[in-house]
Amino acid sequence: MKEIVQEINDIRRQWGKKLLILGHHYQRPSVLCHADELGDSLELSRKAASHSEAERIVFCGVKFMAESADILTNRNQTVYMPDISAGCPMANMADADEMTESWKMLESHGGEWLPVVYVNSSAEIKACCGKWGGSTCTSSNASKVFKWVFAQGKKVFFLPDEHLGINTAYDMGIPDNEVLLYDPGKQNGGIRTEELARAKVIVWKGFCLVHVAFKPEHVIEARKKFPDAKIIVHPETPREVVRMCDAHGSTSQIIKYVEAAAAGSTIIVGTELNLVDRLAAEQKCRVTVKALSSSVCANMAKTNANNLLALLKEWPARNEVHVPESVAVDARKSLTTMLNL
Ligand code: SF4
Repeated sequence: MKEIVQEINDIRRQWGKKLLILGHHYQRPSVLCHADELGDSLELSRKAASHSEAERIVFCGVKFMAESADILTNRNQTVYMPDISAGCPMANMADADEMTESWKMLESHGGEWLPVVYVNSSAEIKACCGKWGGSTCTSSNASKVFKWVFAQGKKVFFLPDEHLGINTAYDMGIPDNEVLLYDPGKQNGGIRTEELARAKVIVWKGFCLVHVAFKPEHVIEARKKFPDAKIIVHPETPREVVRMCDAHGSTSQIIKYVEAAAAGSTIIVGTELNLVDRLAAEQKCRVTVKALSSSVCANMAKTNANNLLALLKEWPARNEVHVPESVAVDARKSLTTMLNL
């Protein structure tokens, strides 16, 4: 392992600022120790765009993140992934054909909808969103983007994470009977015409395997064991669990919550285990951080120090991430709309 670290460090030194390594918060420590920048998916894409001197950008995360970096960076910058097969099952739960079909159905019923697409989605889904006048959102600004839609007298068609959609609608005080679930496996998404008229938000049936693993019994158990602890979870967690906790927030908001906790307190965190373990290690002299339950993203875990080193040595073309300009142009619109909000 020592040799691998040494070899990676040597290569980074040779490349200097022409090489930028980005590490998502859910990566393991043996990868993150090589990252020039650490962050959530959108933060990292913004950082990639701000490092215009970097010719090669290595994204240690999953595919949709590397695609966003490619969309937001210049033509003379190339984005790579150590393991190109590291996808996101949630992003794959919505494809462009299905989204087009659902959009036609909504348009045929009055056209009062705007798509809001979570950044955890494919470039093609973001492109559909941009083409139809919508915006992307993150887990920290979803309610802001929903408000932007409502201010135009429109309704929200949210993809691809039902839980972030439902939690956002709930936080905004939207009654349950105005929030519908669109199931792409059913005729018309399983939505009846009369339901559409009263709906304000439609959420796509999709979920993150890591965050739906948190169950009410985990919260009950944690309360029993640590009665004075605060519990925070990510908003991709199902609503019944979110409502039992003290707080919910995006990855960055969870980090801030832990950093702001009073010395001597205990914080139980419901998100990907690598981040929880890192927070626990960083805060160990001040705050006790525990996992609500051990939940790991298998796709994030595909990146490791070995395939990072292999990439840095060989730069194989198969590890490059290229979003065709025909897709990128509309995907960029949906990202830019959010960044300008
Ligand atoms: S944690 Fe969830 S949303 Fe993030 S990459 Fe893994 S499966 Fe996708």
